[in-house]
Amino acid sequence: EAKKRKANSYNVFSPEMERTSFKNFELQNDLHKALLNDEFELYYQPKVLSNKRQIVGAEALIRWNHSTRGLVSPGEFIPLAEESGLIVPIGEWVLENVCKQIKAWEESGYPRLEVSLNFSALQMLQKGLVDTVKAILEKYQVEGKSLEIEITESLILNDDGDLLKKLEDLKDLGIRIAIDDFGTGYSSMSYLTKYKFNTIKLDRSFIKDIHTSTDSQAITKFIIQLSNQLKMKVVAEGVELEEQFSLLLEMNCDEIQGYLISKPLPVHQFEQLGRFSSFI
Ligand code: C2E
Ligand code: MG
Ligand code: MG
Ligand code: MG
Repeated sequence: EAKKRKANSYNVFSPEMERTSFKNFELQNDLHKALLNDEFELYYQPKVLSNKRQIVGAEALIRWNHSTRGLVSPGEFIPLAEESGLIVPIGEWVLENVCKQIKAWEESGYPRLEVSLNFSALQMLQKGLVDTVKAILEKYQVEGKSLEIEITESLILNDDGDLLKKLEDLKDLGIRIAIDDFGTGYSSMSYLTKYKFNTIKLDRSFIKDIHTSTDSQAITKFIIQLSNQLKMKVVAEGVELEEQFSLLLEMNCDEIQGYLISKPLPVHQFEQLGRFSSFI
């Protein structure tokens, strides 16, 4: 009987699970106050051209400075924000702050960077999404071409029929659309011809092993070739080693993002990093 229970251990509510769910319950509650208390912050991680190591863009990644727990990772709280629907106002906060930042950089005379930000499925499925985005761009006087929106394959699985039109409307504003964590979802490749993304972000799970596994190398090479042929830009995420970098360069990967170049950084540190457009 005990053995049987062990085999079905996912049915058992362990003390560990109890702790996790209590923590999540608390985090869920605190999340409501986090926006009001100004506890969120955006970090920026640079993207470089793989043939020059020149910074050409950055991904904005949210951080939560929790009053008692310290820094809580988005991997932990974004799923909770999605469950409660709070991801919608949080997502708007992210977009506003990215636009504010782009404007500030523009006004201080920095070369233009393309800034990407992540949109959750629930956020993308909002009816008035395109109008909201348009209003925020206008409010901060930011051009759509300064922005790239990263979405994931899960969104395509949840497409309610409006997605294609929405993506086209966003592209009409000059915004670029990237498919994030490419290759990790369950959807078919045929959607690449349907949605016409501007950018493919190769997931870290492939990059992790490219220097040791010929399989990962083959898949990565294949996806890069496919992207080139479909006229999409390819960005490799999670590049940590020089070996990985040079393999990706050989494979004609356009841009590189990862700890090898830099971790995501608070704004003032990001600004110091090579003072933009310089080479690292
Ligand atoms: P993502 O969009 O795929 O972002 C890349 C994640 O990989 C980031 O984790 C980044 O810090 C991490 N990363 C980058 N380079 C390396 C590397 O070389 N090695 C390793 N080990 N990791 C690397 P982070 O910031 O913890 O974010 C996790 C996920 O949370 C993001 O994955 C994204 O899905 C979500 N997220 C973050 N910010 C936002 C946001 O503003 N809105 C929404 N909806 N989701 C967000
Ligand atoms: Mg992303
Ligand atoms: Mg990603
Ligand atoms: Mg990823």
